[in-house]
Amino acid sequence: MTAGAARGGMHDMDFLNQSVGPLTLGQWIGALVAFLVISSALSAMKRKSEQKEAAANTSEARCLGCGWQGRVSRYHRTCPKCGNSITRLARGES
Ligand SMILES: [Zn+2]
Repeated sequence: MTAGAARGGMHDMDFLNQSVGPLTLGQWIGALVAFLVISSALSAMKRKSEQKEAAANTSEARCLGCGWQGRVSRYHRTCPKCGNSITRLARGES
C-alpha cells in the first residue's frame, strides 16, 4: 500500500505537473502555445495590412506610348515597358 498506487491512473500526466520555475510544465506548454498562436496571428495581420497599403498606393494605368496596361505606383507613374511617363489612369484620377 503506497501513496503512488492511488494515482496510478494519472501516471501519464505526471510530467505536466512537475514544476519548472514558477509554473508547472503543463502551464509552460500552454503559455508557449498561446504565445505561438498570438504571434502568428499578429504577423498574419501585419502582412495583410502591408498588402493593403501596397495596393492603395498603386493604380491601374495605361501607357499612352506603347499601350501597356497594369498597376503602377501613384508616385512614380512610369511605364515599365517603354519608360514613358504614364499620364492616363485606367480608372480615372482619384
Ligand atoms: Zn509604355
